[in-house]
Amino acid sequence: MSSKYSEYNRIVEEIKSCTKCPLHKTRRNPVPGEGSIDAEVMFVGEAPGEREDATGRPFVGAAGKFLDQLLASVGLRREEVYITNILKCRPPGNRDPREDEIVACTPYLWRQIELIKPKVIIALGRHAARVLYAKAGLKWTNMSKKHGSVVEASINGHRVLLAVTYHPAAALYNPKLRSALQEDFKKIFEAVKASDKRRHGRSLLDYFRTS
Ligand code: SF4
Repeated sequence: MSSKYSEYNRIVEEIKSCTKCPLHKTRRNPVPGEGSIDAEVMFVGEAPGEREDATGRPFVGAAGKFLDQLLASVGLRREEVYITNILKCRPPGNRDPREDEIVACTPYLWRQIELIKPKVIIALGRHAARVLYAKAGLKWTNMSKKHGSVVEASINGHRVLLAVTYHPAAALYNPKLRSALQEDFKKIFEAVKASDKRRHGRSLLDYFRTS
């Protein structure tokens, strides 16, 4: 087993037995994340919901189905990317993440980023966006201003393109947000391809088959 794979398994095992914040008392299953550990694109959402808590997998409910459609719209499959959240355990009643929980849990996310080394991180929703912007030392304003944007950022010394858009769950019953999210996906992946070409003279992300 490669050392990358062993380190990944170590992170997963630590999350599974984690008691660093009170959410361990109410979770059914922690949700470390899922996908390729060599992924060039990482999605970071807010926290597991009810279905995720029941299954231990991220984005498996209706929001997950919508995310799959969004991925397909830019030529990607779920197994080609990595999907996780800023919190690995479900807040009761799907309430917003608390600051102490974010502080306790995000070291796992930083380790996942350090190990997987994605070229692009897409924050889904304002909580993930705010936390990732803060870690990168960037000024966060709000989602209505920032959605669809892509900026160069450094997270723990790892250079990435950091993009933000709405959380798919927020768009499920809101047709306006739904189309905004679809537009954002197109815009974000166009910007990523353009940036790749500028920096490398070719598209590194050759699996963006919509080009
Ligand atoms: S949310 Fe994170 S810090 Fe809290 S118990 Fe779960 S894994 Fe540990």
